[in-house]
Formats: sequence, structure tokens, C-alpha cells
Amino acid sequence: MRVLILGGTGDAAELAARVAAIEGVEAITSLAGRTREPSIPLGDFRIGGFGGVAGLANYLRQMRIDLLIDATHPFATQISCNAVDAASEVGVPRLMLIRRPWQKVSGDRWIEVDTVEAAAKALPLQAQRVFLTVGRQELGTFANLKDIWFLMRIIDLPTPDAVMPPGLILCDRGPFALHHEREIIIHHKIDTIVSKNSGGDATYAKIIVARELGLQVVMVNRPAKPPGEQVMDVEEALAWLLDKCKQ
Ligand code: NAP
Repeated sequence: MRVLILGGTGDAAELAARVAAIEGVEAITSLAGRTREPSIPLGDFRIGGFGGVAGLANYLRQMRIDLLIDATHPFATQISCNAVDAASEVGVPRLMLIRRPWQKVSGDRWIEVDTVEAAAKALPLQAQRVFLTVGRQELGTFANLKDIWFLMRIIDLPTPDAVMPPGLILCDRGPFALHHEREIIIHHKIDTIVSKNSGGDATYAKIIVARELGLQVVMVNRPAKPPGEQVMDVEEALAWLLDKCKQ
């Protein structure tokens, strides 16, 4: 059995590591190649786009892929849509592994919006020092907010020609510990956090700190993923895989 894991998430990396331990199953993880020094998953991997639906379908055929697990980030919709069409064209069973979104709990002060553009518009009048954690590719959306100071946490430095809001770039990669997030947020006198509702534990600590300190969070809700079989954690994905291996 050969499984293609569409990756770029911690769940995908964990799944690849677990699959590597299963006799008779070979996993290839695919990474988009967005980060300069990606975390290399266990087992085989490849890096870079496939070239749309046709490219992915060709890859599935050429590599004789038996199963496809789409474990991409909840905000990566294009690749998930491509996976639907390519898997159906080639007749490869497909599963989506999408972790649970964070739920607002008592003490949270969230402003929920549907897009990153809406997050920029929703930044409340009193927001002066914003912790922006939506990723490098989205920084330009905040560029015209000249009266706000941004602490922008991203994995890789932006290109020199990137249009960005005023503030400070912090290059770092999760998971982030609670004490680390508390220190950063207090040190930079942050009053508002902008986050995608990524779910999972790796980047949740900032949301806990916001609750502790009573800070506002502009939370970007997830876009819709395409239809199809879905599970929410690695255990369930493994169960699906093992079940398919028996068939
Ligand atoms: P996207 O908009 O859904 O995909 C854009 C294009 O990037 C796809 O059409 C595909 O190119 C290529 N691509 C995306 N994921 C790929 C993968 N795993 N393997 C090979 N090619 C891939 O994706 P995105 O939002 O830019 O995210 C890119 C990657 O970063 C994803 O793998 C995702 O898991 C990870 N990520 C995204 C976010 C986020 O907030 N969007 C956050 C953390 C991690 P072709 O059409 O040429 O095949």
C-alpha cells in the first residue's frame, strides 16, 4: 500500500511517523515548499506544487498511489479542492484529516470574522499594538493600517519587496509554550491578537494568554473545505488507513 499524505501541518508529520511504523505501508508526504527550511517528515517526501489537478492526477498514477490523505492546514483550500478532483479522476480513495477548530470559552473576547481582509477591517479603534499571527503571505492585507504597531510572527523573513504594515518581524516556528507567549505578549504591550482558527495545541497558548490578560482576539473563521470523508485526529486517520489496507 502506498499512501500520499498532503502535508504542511503537525498532524501530517505525526501521521507520517505513525505510518512509517506500519509494515507493508509506505507513505510519501508532499510539502508545498512555502518555508525555506521545512521540517522534514519521517519516510519519503517530495516538495513543490504538482501543477494543478492534472499534475496531481499524473503523480497519483505515476507513483501508483493507493490512498490519499489530505492533512493540509484548515486554511489551505486550493490543494484540498485539487485533491478531490484528482483522486476522483484516478479512483484513489481520499480522506481529509482536519483538526478540530478552537472553541470560544468563558473569558475569551473574540471578534469572529470570515476572512483575513475582514480581520484587518475589524481591528477595533482601540487596537494599538497587535500581535499578528496569520502567516507571511497575509501581511500585505494589514499594510495600510499605519496607525497600528504590529508584532508579526512568521516562519521566514519576507522578501525585500513585500508590502507590510509598520512594526517588528519575529521569525519563529511553533509549537509555542505558554510562558513563552506570555512573555512576548507582555513585553511588547500587545492589546489585540489576530489569529486564524487553526485548531490544535501548537499555537493555542497565545489564546490562553489573551484570556488571562483580557485581550481581544480577532479570530478568522475557517473557510469551507470540500466535501468528502473527514476525520479530526491522527488516530482516526490511521484507523481509516488500516481499514482500507484490509479491503
Ligand atoms: P493552497 O492555497 O491550498 O494551495 C495553493 C497551491 O500550493 C496548490 O494549488 C498546490 O500547487 C500547492 N500546494 C499546497 N499544498 C501543497 C502540498 N501539501 N503539496 C504540494 N503542493 C501543495 O495552500 P496554502 O494555503 O498556500 O498552503 C500551502 C501549504 O502550507 C499547505 O500544504 C498547508 O498545509 C501549509 N500551511 C498553510 C497554512 C495557511 O494558513 N494557509 C498554514 C500553515 C501551513 P499546485 O496546484 O501546483 O499543485
